[in-house]
Amino acid sequence: MHFAELARAYERLEATTKRLEMRTILADLVRPIRPPDLARVLYLSQGLLRPEYEGVELGVADSLARRAVALATGAEEPDVARRAKESGDLGSTTAELLGKGRRLDANEPLSVAGVYADLSRIAAAKGPGSQEEKVAILAQLLGRATPVEGKFVVRFVLGTLRVGVREMTILDALAEAFGDGAKATRARIESAFNLTSDLGLVAGVLVDRGVDGLEKVGVEVGRPIRPMLAEREPDLASVLERMGGRAALEYKYDGLRVQAHVPARGPVRLFSRRLEEISAQFPELVEELRTAVGSPPAILEGECVPIDLDTDEIQPFQEVSRRRGRKHDLARVQEEVPVCLFVFDVLYAGSEPVYLKDFAERRALLESILRPTDRVRLAVQEVVADVASATRFFEQAIAAGGEGVMAKSLKDGSAYRAGARGYWWIKYKREYTAGLSDSIDGVVVGAFLGRGRRAGRYGAFLLAVYDPEHDRFESFCKVGTGFDDARLEEMPKRLRPFEADAAPAGIETGLVPDRWMRPGVVLEVRGAELTLSPIHRAARGEVRPEAGLALRFPRFTGRFRDDKGPTEATTSGELLSMYRSQVRQAAPSSGSEGAPG
Ligand code: ATP
Repeated sequence: MHFAELARAYERLEATTKRLEMRTILADLVRPIRPPDLARVLYLSQGLLRPEYEGVELGVADSLARRAVALATGAEEPDVARRAKESGDLGSTTAELLGKGRRLDANEPLSVAGVYADLSRIAAAKGPGSQEEKVAILAQLLGRATPVEGKFVVRFVLGTLRVGVREMTILDALAEAFGDGAKATRARIESAFNLTSDLGLVAGVLVDRGVDGLEKVGVEVGRPIRPMLAEREPDLASVLERMGGRAALEYKYDGLRVQAHVPARGPVRLFSRRLEEISAQFPELVEELRTAVGSPPAILEGECVPIDLDTDEIQPFQEVSRRRGRKHDLARVQEEVPVCLFVFDVLYAGSEPVYLKDFAERRALLESILRPTDRVRLAVQEVVADVASATRFFEQAIAAGGEGVMAKSLKDGSAYRAGARGYWWIKYKREYTAGLSDSIDGVVVGAFLGRGRRAGRYGAFLLAVYDPEHDRFESFCKVGTGFDDARLEEMPKRLRPFEADAAPAGIETGLVPDRWMRPGVVLEVRGAELTLSPIHRAARGEVRPEAGLALRFPRFTGRFRDDKGPTEATTSGELLSMYRSQVRQAAPSSGSEGAPG
């Protein structure tokens, strides 16, 4: 396949903000492609070289890319830098410069396979001299590219591809191109993806063996599974009612979700909630998991929380966030912030996947294969069948440093549902009891310039929730409160890779920020209450026509949700159910503690 075809599709994708249109463009693009090009096209279109969990990075800084562009086009480097500053996009500048030069027409057209191979070599270059090597490969590649191809290559390399193709849209396109486009087909493709976290792999199987072939795609140790997620209920009585009167309650630990893959041989690997490998940050867990899992292979899931090893007391979550992304000083931090993994599920054991077994069976299995150590323990659990016992357990959980309880269904069919949110798991947190709403994880989609003390930098941010059904981001608040100086300084750095000149595809809001942002950074906020708004667009029209949901008095909690990607932020559906439960609590007849806020 020629790379030019892909570039053409990207131009069309960039030009639309409509999801249906994107789906059609993508479906048309992929329909004629066969493996192995198919996987390459899918990864590239998401700005990746390999499935996200493999964490393959190109390691090309802006300055390196500018050097490569200068080499490829014969322009002077300062000139490239100046033009890029003006246009705000080195990709367009590259296209402009490539358009000026006379290309050697004897050049073979670029192929997807060739571009992919070059990009992979750039990613693979490590160690001394690698910077030069990266520049040389990129310059050579650009030297053979047409202006449009060059634009997309540079944007890809810098991580600023703006085609806005997310997983859910790709799944739609695959169903349309290779299935019958029906909902059921789409669901089967999605569930294969949820188990493998690899769109390239799923698409390959779909083309080679058809939709039925997907049933054989299974779980493998070393390849992360997309996490099962919980719904919420406003009180314990409703939780029990949902679960049919009886449920397993567990402490809800407030830390980092960890999926631990313990192979029979080879290194233990830990993955975060968004499937990033985090093994290097928790060497002591890697080590103790070997001891704790008597008969590998196994895949376990648990929550990693800071703990005081002398008193066994759980410490505030903020402590553990100090360890994220930390490469140096690890030994010291390890000692300062010891962590413990509270294991709550098992997905693979005894050489076979067990995620389809009912929850009670999985828990029994977990208890039989886990030999608890100091740092790897079982999540505390109790089966309850009445509200009084549930309340007592909840209070015990809070006293022990938990943030509430997680209820797990014991009904038939309580399999582990990878990547799905449902009432098989229900979370109930302390905040609900105080009449306040839960925290919300919002995606930054825009920024406003500050005034007064904040002049010259961003002072507030436009946040959105995710609507998976329409694959779009809907604004629900503008937040400027809760940022200390350090965090305010940090924001531009975090946001830079996501800055956009115009409203990016799939953003719904009635506000126009000073700077648009492509969805990337996720912040945790709290507020007084959810209200109806003519400006914000979350769950618009669900409560009242033309009105969306907005958060009153929003406040950043100080917690960056680096463990969540933008599509894992709070959804508009969740916001709606928070709004509804708030309305229920506020109703005088409910006997609750009154209106929130
Ligand atoms: P969500 O995962 O529902 O999108 P979130 O990451 O913001 O939301 P919460 O809503 O607070 O987290 O609750 C869900 C999370 O609780 C799980 O993803 C998991 O990390 C954590 N957790 C803590 N204890 C347990 C437990 N016993 N069983 C399952 N999950 C638990």
